[in-house]
Amino acid sequence: MAKILVTGGAGYIGSHTCVELLNAGHEVIVFDNLSNSSEESLNRVQQLTNKTLVFVQGDIRFEKELDQVFQEHKIDAVIHFAGLKAVGESQKIPLTYFDHNIAGSIQLMKSMEKAGVFTLVFSSSATVYGELNPSPYQEDMPLSLPNNNYGYTKLMIEQMLQKIALAEMRWSIALLRYFNPVGAHQSGQIGEDPQGTPNNLMPYVTQVAIGRREKLSIFGSDYPTADGTCERDFIHVVDLAKAHVLAVTNRLDQQGCRAWNIGTGIPISVLQIKETFEKVNRIVIPTEFVHRRVGDLAAFYADASRAKNELGWRPQYTLEDMLADSWNWQKQNPNGYKS
Ligand code: NAD
Ligand code: UDP
Repeated sequence: MAKILVTGGAGYIGSHTCVELLNAGHEVIVFDNLSNSSEESLNRVQQLTNKTLVFVQGDIRFEKELDQVFQEHKIDAVIHFAGLKAVGESQKIPLTYFDHNIAGSIQLMKSMEKAGVFTLVFSSSATVYGELNPSPYQEDMPLSLPNNNYGYTKLMIEQMLQKIALAEMRWSIALLRYFNPVGAHQSGQIGEDPQGTPNNLMPYVTQVAIGRREKLSIFGSDYPTADGTCERDFIHVVDLAKAHVLAVTNRLDQQGCRAWNIGTGIPISVLQIKETFEKVNRIVIPTEFVHRRVGDLAAFYADASRAKNELGWRPQYTLEDMLADSWNWQKQNPNGYKS
């Protein structure tokens, strides 16, 4: 069993991963500045697992704060979620995104190197495949510049991690390329808690369902897809969390830098999400069709066979589970962790 530092561990994917790490018997130290999360998520992680974790409030951009954590705890591996993730915001304040995501990741690598910790799992994204690759995306396809600054930070960090692993054999790095994480822990105790108006589809749908928003706007109905709305590869956050446990175990054993897609491989349209949510949860989602959102691709989904073959990872949850669990979380926590 390993001692794992989880940056950004109080956030949506991080908190679910902490549950799976603790359940698998690992020790967890969360390092998070709480800029987009609440410590309450970690209280609930501990209640759910009946185990304790260590929480350190700190910022990955700050050398002293990070170094202190590595000095105080004998860390075996790092799972790195911390960063900013709103695509639209990244177009308005690129420097802030470069600072938190790129400079923050560089500082983390430097502190790891200083402490002699060389095992890292990084939260990447399907956005690194850019706009030209056909789906299903495969890990060895050529990457290209994403059309937004958030995606650019993910590509930059991936490339830096590839290069340090090539230069220094002690590094062992997993690049997990997430598709569209949705859902929540089945208990409804932890889930996605966006601040302000949600940018992503799923929290928008659940906030309409709970009455916090009037209606869902579907961005575009004239895409070249089966029903005209965009298609994505939605993945249950608990399946995604489990992939981290497998990836960190794999990396503690091997050297080099390796990328894995984490998606189901099944394209689902935005309209299907709305209609299946209504059916599974017996709630009507008032909806309007509006113009396309700038920068959206018509469709993309994963070839997830590498994660299956090399990590033994298989998604277990269905679309219906994802939508029922998202609603269960929202229903129990109408105002997120504030309620
Ligand atoms: P989140 O915002 O819920 O979690 C990120 C956490 O990082 C938050 O708790 C936040 O407080 C913390 N944080 C931000 N900047 C920090 C800093 N400088 N120092 C310390 N902590 C900091 O987001 P999430 O959805 O859980 O995403 C986790 C990671 O996965 C991110 O890197 C994100 O880019 C990546 N990712 C997310 C998605 C998605 O759709 N949710 C898709 C692909 C990749
Ligand atoms: N979407 C939508 N209405 C919303 C939010 C998102 O129609 O309020 C669509 C968006 O155009 C995209 C899909 O839902 O086709 C998924 O968007 P999201 O922002 O959740 O993830 P992305 O795939 O952009 O990372």
